[in-house]
Amino acid sequence: MNWNRRMHILVPAVALLMFLLPVAPPAAAQAPSTAMPTVHATQSPAGNTAALAKEAEGWLADLIRIDTTNPPGNEEATAKYIAAILTKEGLTPELLELAAGRSALIARLRSAAMPDPSRALLLVAHMDVVGVDKSKWTVDPFSATIKDGYMYGRGSVDDKGMLAANLAAFIALKRSNVRVNRDIIFLATADEEQGGEASIRFLIAKYWDKFAAGFALNEGGRVILKNGKVEYVAVQASEKVPVDVAVIARGPSGHASVPTKDNAVVHLAAAVEKIGSYTAPVRFTTIVRRYFEQLAPLEDVELAKWIRSIDTPDRGEHAQRVISDTNPLWNSMLRDTIAPTILSAGVRANVIPSEARAMIDVRLLPGDTIDVLLGELTKLVNDPSVRFEVQPDAGLAAPPSSLESDFYATITKAASEEFSGAPVLPFLSAGATDSAQLRLHNVQAYGVSPFPLTDEDSRRLHADDERIPLASFEKGVDFLARIVAEFAATR
Ligand SMILES: [Zn+2]
Repeated sequence: MNWNRRMHILVPAVALLMFLLPVAPPAAAQAPSTAMPTVHATQSPAGNTAALAKEAEGWLADLIRIDTTNPPGNEEATAKYIAAILTKEGLTPELLELAAGRSALIARLRSAAMPDPSRALLLVAHMDVVGVDKSKWTVDPFSATIKDGYMYGRGSVDDKGMLAANLAAFIALKRSNVRVNRDIIFLATADEEQGGEASIRFLIAKYWDKFAAGFALNEGGRVILKNGKVEYVAVQASEKVPVDVAVIARGPSGHASVPTKDNAVVHLAAAVEKIGSYTAPVRFTTIVRRYFEQLAPLEDVELAKWIRSIDTPDRGEHAQRVISDTNPLWNSMLRDTIAPTILSAGVRANVIPSEARAMIDVRLLPGDTIDVLLGELTKLVNDPSVRFEVQPDAGLAAPPSSLESDFYATITKAASEEFSGAPVLPFLSAGATDSAQLRLHNVQAYGVSPFPLTDEDSRRLHADDERIPLASFEKGVDFLARIVAEFAATR
């Protein structure tokens, strides 16, 4: 990297952003010629965010304490809480009503009197959380208890951690008084977990003009922490498409004392068994191909060998099996998947029901269609008494975000600086996020959940005792603020 050019870029932003810092000015604020030898490559244009992160920790605790379990969501209480913080900073937040008690919130840092929406950057996070089984938690899930270096709470990772971090990055820029070269829009969404009446689909339909943008930062990626070190940063640029399908078996009802071979329960069970063991063929999307190419050098020799063979004619099939078996997430990135999730049949032990139903959760690779998959399953099940019924509100396939955009390059640079050279890998998430809807509106949306987390910590998302390491939260605030400052602060 060219140091001279680098200093030239960093100095003005640092000088301006220092305004908000409680600590001594960083060396980078000095004249390039004298400062060069003492400057670290990791110096952030957002300055030192330690005090800000502490403040954001307080916001996160408050956000966890406002119960936004969806349903019913009640996101408006959270929106009002955030609005109060933003108002205190001299900003003008706006609540966008979606349904009773459910609003999204936006606030904007303006770059010009007539800003160009295609340059604008959206900082997106959702305010609702999934439900809890309180009896399985070791602490109250809505108390934001701090224990062993963690903050516990439903939403601490998904997605109130990012909500608080976005707020911090946004406020940092405002406090710095730095001139931004593009509009920055803070957006807190509702109903992400259910995708219903208050979700981003309706938010866009109703209010798109208020937050139209060319770029977005959202959840969906991961900072992979392994043996105390960030191995890589997975930036979500695409996501799978969720489709719920009912599997329905029909047969005559009757007295259970006289069983017949056309029992709907038996037919459904046989069908579910076949569907559950079906493995869809591998298909490489551009994002997934790039992901594995960049992953190979990070893995141990044996696994790297298989990853490199994944698309070869002779060893490809075996390699795909090894990789799919090594990590269920990799399996999900390579093919359409099906998970049976709900079974229902019968009203009495002694009554043969005329109908038995299962629900299967299908996740398609973007570009694959449900009709083709159901065609395969129909052949496999091979039972005229069983049929499939695609449920309404399926996800929509969106084109992937570009890996050549300036913003992707900024994220890559910031990740490397923040995490001592850690690479960025493009990522296709198995789970759905608000980004698909944004991508369908020509937004280059990237999933950057900014907190370094181990596999174990990540698995607590949507699970019992969800919690975020405070050190990771602070690091995540710094990472986000760095990305935003690098991309938007005028130099
Ligand atoms: Zn989420």
